[in-house]
Amino acid sequence: MTTLPLPVDLPEAAVNANAQVVLAKRYLMKGPDGSPLEDVRGLFWRVAAAIAAEEAKYGNSPFAPEDLARRFYDLMVGMRFLPNSPTLMNAGTPLGQLAACFVLPVGDSMEEIFDAVKFAALIHKSGGGTGFSFSRLRPKKARVGSTGGVASGPVSFMRIFNTATEQVKQGGTRRGANMGILRVDHPDILEFITCKERENELQNFNISVALTERFMQAVEKGEDYDLIDPRDKAVVGRQSAADVFSLLVRKAWESGDPGIVFIDRINRDNPTPALGEIESTNPCGEQPLLPYEACNLGSVNLAVFHDPAAPDGIDWAGLTETVHLAVRFLDNVIDASRYPLDQITDMVQANRKIGLGLMGFADLLYLLHIPYDSTEALKLAERIMDTIQGESKSASKALAAERGPFPAYPDSIFGKRNLGPYRNATTTTIAPTGTLSIIAGCSSGIEPLFALAFSRHVMDGEKLVEANVHFVNAMKEAGAYSDSLMEEVTRKGSIAHIGMLPDALREVFVTAMDIEPVWHLKMQAAFQKYTDNAVSKTVNLPNDATQDDIREIYRLAYELGCKGVTVYRDGCKAGQVLCTGDGA
Ligand code: ADP
Repeated sequence: MTTLPLPVDLPEAAVNANAQVVLAKRYLMKGPDGSPLEDVRGLFWRVAAAIAAEEAKYGNSPFAPEDLARRFYDLMVGMRFLPNSPTLMNAGTPLGQLAACFVLPVGDSMEEIFDAVKFAALIHKSGGGTGFSFSRLRPKKARVGSTGGVASGPVSFMRIFNTATEQVKQGGTRRGANMGILRVDHPDILEFITCKERENELQNFNISVALTERFMQAVEKGEDYDLIDPRDKAVVGRQSAADVFSLLVRKAWESGDPGIVFIDRINRDNPTPALGEIESTNPCGEQPLLPYEACNLGSVNLAVFHDPAAPDGIDWAGLTETVHLAVRFLDNVIDASRYPLDQITDMVQANRKIGLGLMGFADLLYLLHIPYDSTEALKLAERIMDTIQGESKSASKALAAERGPFPAYPDSIFGKRNLGPYRNATTTTIAPTGTLSIIAGCSSGIEPLFALAFSRHVMDGEKLVEANVHFVNAMKEAGAYSDSLMEEVTRKGSIAHIGMLPDALREVFVTAMDIEPVWHLKMQAAFQKYTDNAVSKTVNLPNDATQDDIREIYRLAYELGCKGVTVYRDGCKAGQVLCTGDGA
């Protein structure tokens, strides 16, 4: 709970109107009658004070508690860094669950399945999202020993998780989110791939197929591959890898679901294989975790580090300082968080994973006048993430010297190779920053803008109209700004086809749909190169993209070292969260 009173001289948080709406609706602490108990300043101080207070128990902190609380406060109100939503909502409150990402095991028995349903409900109630692998469940129609009946299989059990999620609305506002994963060698894989075919089916699930290296090789060679019963690892069938791959591609073309993850690659990067195998990720795919593991995320806002006076336009020293403070913040969050299960507390304490990432990348490119779909942008992406990765590792090393390494360190890949010691088994993850980017008023994650001006439907049908401020400024500078131009941009979202604007502007101010799919993927791969965990990214495709285009994206994702891919073909699904005037 908050231990420090609100200082009178705290600077105000400069949040825009959209952020105000979101914060008031979901983030400010409220009394029993629903009236707010704090303002925006109060929210950030509550979080800063609660997270800084964790410092005291180590006894050798280089910061006085109030000084650190102020630094954390400045970090957040300056929108240089924000922790994930559960931390903003729950730090310094009696609930105190601060992590966004969880993975739960689903064992092959009624007890274990329904335990997982219950655990997921507890996590959803606290604002976290859950990922599950259903690969351990016996296939449909397999015999059930105790009753002589037959099993209903992974997909039918997923419906129970889905219904339970539907019923647990988080804190009255945030509905739960799930990831469901099945290995490609599970006998029920075909049913799984098509399980969201019917409208409204499994709406609270993102689904992904875990592709093995063996499967990818079989696709390449045009061979069959083995289907394996998870209980005894017996081969129970074989099928054409190419056929399954084609079905995956077709379903992704039709609806975006399922995505794919490269599970063997993910496990090659598992920092603590002695603690188990990674079977699943969190709901949006950016955070692979062990069963019963949780991770808290945080994101730096790159737009704030634009410095026109710097030689290359970026305040690298400021970014470095922020990364160091953010790592301390996220490490403290681990201790401040109260998890709904002892198994989770134990696993989180053993590995102390944190996931620092970024948002505002597209804004920064606009500010620097670098087109997203350019080699220059890829180079900048690599340089930025290399910096964040390198500095987060050095911050984690410094924390290990101060507080000790993560307890599972000796048996970890770092311990075995004599690297480190580090305080955290992982330090970097690139999250979608769906709400964080609204709060910070910047572009989300590493995504390009969806539209330069658009109306946004948020919560309960409320509508917000927004134009990107960097775009507006550039138009004004170029003397191209007018009301009629802005009307056209709001209708179209993009300026790609507004011929009267100079080419230089049209090249820089690109949106998701203006960018060739392959550039989306190259950007994901550039960031993945320097990220411990995974990268949240959608590869946007135009409505007229073919299944072969998706096949090529999947192949390239594998080749370029991505950990998974999500594609989205424009217009293939009914309800889009963001929409331009011409769109949905
Ligand atoms: P935010 O911007 O709110 O911090 P992100 O969009 O970055 O969140 O998502 C990060 C992770 O938070 C997701 O991958 C998921 O694990 C979790 N998450 C996001 N939205 C929800 C939700 N509605 N319910 C549960 N978990 C969620």
